[in-house]
Amino acid sequence: MEGIKAAVAGGFRVTTNTTLFDGADPNSVRGHFDDLMTVGVEAMMVAPGYTYEKAPDQKHFLGRARSRRLFRAILSNRKKSWKFNANYLYLEFIMGKRDFKCTAWAMPTFSIFGWQKPCYLLQDGYADTFQELIDSTDWSNYGTESGNPKCANCMVHSGYEGTAVNYTFGSLKGLWETAKAMMNLYPDKGALDLLHEPVKPVHSFNPLVQINAQIETHVTVEEGTRV
Ligand code: SF4
Repeated sequence: MEGIKAAVAGGFRVTTNTTLFDGADPNSVRGHFDDLMTVGVEAMMVAPGYTYEKAPDQKHFLGRARSRRLFRAILSNRKKSWKFNANYLYLEFIMGKRDFKCTAWAMPTFSIFGWQKPCYLLQDGYADTFQELIDSTDWSNYGTESGNPKCANCMVHSGYEGTAVNYTFGSLKGLWETAKAMMNLYPDKGALDLLHEPVKPVHSFNPLVQINAQIETHVTVEEGTRV
């Protein structure tokens, strides 16, 4: 946080990207968002961590159902002050309010090895050109619906935000739904109840550090009102 303050004081535009894992306290994250906005961060990104098969600590990765539950708790009843550097329909996706399929080629990765197949999270080979990437990758092998275990719990930006952006700009309906999502604070009494549930510790050799010790317990919402 001190680094962010120094960057803002130095005149830089600062945006953040917060990746969350199982055991994250939604109240802590909400407090963190408040702090980021207070210190002058321009906008925030947030997403569940991808389940890397080779990561030594597998217990902290979120399954899809737990991701939706966590993001419903965090992003419902949201503050007017929170500004997101994300497609707002993607935020609805991680909250479990809509379903999108993976569009891995929307955010391709290029490195000294070439165009990575099929996305930056997986390494199933490389192509010399983007066209070759598109033509030589069997895209039916990827995405949650494919049955590929590597994609089973994925809800990350690189696969799904491109889909959300495409939906936004693909029709007037998409544009209208995005505009509504940007103004919606998602009042949700059930999500408030989730904020009052004790956070279950995830047992692992790497204890999870909560990013903000300030626990928010005074959020209330009434039908038809915005917090
Ligand atoms: S679901 Fe899409 S973005 Fe996620 S790992 Fe699979 S191909 Fe990559």
